[in-house]
Amino acid sequence: MDVTRRTFALAGFTALSSAALSGRAWADDPAAVRQILVEPSGVNARVSVALDRHTQVRTFFLPQPDRFVVDISNSRLALPQGPSGGGAGGGVIRGYRYAPRPDGVSRLVLDLEAPARLVRQDLGGRRQPLVSFDLAPNAPFTAAPAPLQRQGRDSRQRTIVIDAGHGGRDPGAIGVTGVREKDVVLDSALKLRRALEHRGHRVAMTRDADTYVEHSQRVRFARQQNADLFISVHADSHANREAAGASVYTLSERGADRAQGMMDAQNWNVDLGDAPREGLAHDILLDLRQRETINNSALFAQTVIPRIASVAPLLRNTHRNAGFFVLLAPDVPAVLIETGFLSNVEDERRLADPNARERLAEAMARAVDDYFAAPALYASA
Ligand SMILES: [Zn+2]
Repeated sequence: MDVTRRTFALAGFTALSSAALSGRAWADDPAAVRQILVEPSGVNARVSVALDRHTQVRTFFLPQPDRFVVDISNSRLALPQGPSGGGAGGGVIRGYRYAPRPDGVSRLVLDLEAPARLVRQDLGGRRQPLVSFDLAPNAPFTAAPAPLQRQGRDSRQRTIVIDAGHGGRDPGAIGVTGVREKDVVLDSALKLRRALEHRGHRVAMTRDADTYVEHSQRVRFARQQNADLFISVHADSHANREAAGASVYTLSERGADRAQGMMDAQNWNVDLGDAPREGLAHDILLDLRQRETINNSALFAQTVIPRIASVAPLLRNTHRNAGFFVLLAPDVPAVLIETGFLSNVEDERRLADPNARERLAEAMARAVDDYFAAPALYASA
């Protein structure tokens, strides 16, 4: 394992993520990705990416399955097939797929036949905005038969863990007319379960009755279930009774640091494939894994917000970052949805209405389908 190279890739990844999470705009117009070319040369392969102007490019390898990832910052995919797609590979590259990420990065993922290494790279320049990489397998390999062309949607059954907030002795927020958060979010969660199961997903719930469940138990449960997505359902309350509308939270950068502490405290073991159990390489891989989770959480947040907007009012600055305890699993993409304010008369009426809750559940279930239908770049490693 080439630790230096991963360190380099990680530094870039971190900078990009924090720029995206803080909502900072890039000064320049995005570069256009015009062409992606994969050329085999025996067992080796060259991948070339033609851009219309120079921009930063970061690369890294991911294990199990082996992949080589090319992240092109501040860019858009202007390819004849559209902004997302893929194609067949050659040599050590089995195939490739690409899609835009919410932070303005175009991601190209090369699926590898076997563990490989970078033997040459050209990151281009202002005069020649063409980047190219040569990959060689680490050891001789037998090529697998060509896989069927994927059709965007991955048919693997997904597990979604739904977390109804509070419960039992913890009522959560209490509305103007006495509506209790723990009751309305449980019903919303049950309706969401029905909508998701109807769509063929596997659903597990941290609670399906009026019981009290510790925060740490909720997170542990999601990890035990090998969840592909964790959705925590809540309702807000605020001293200002004008505050209204739904909002979606994902883990903040500072929360991510807290997750590290949680992992040590709870003895969480994150599956990093063949990676060493400790040391620098392990830390770097873990950090990458965590960033991937944060990015996927943000992607789901951005998918679910417009769906919720079609059935309910939204709070301004709807997508928020926070360090909520239930969002701390380092390897499960997670969002916390505040479905509205029980302290607001209109919102309370909506949250207390079973039909409105049904519409909300349906909207969230659609967002789950949207999220998993996106090219499988976002599937956890
Ligand atoms: Zn709550």
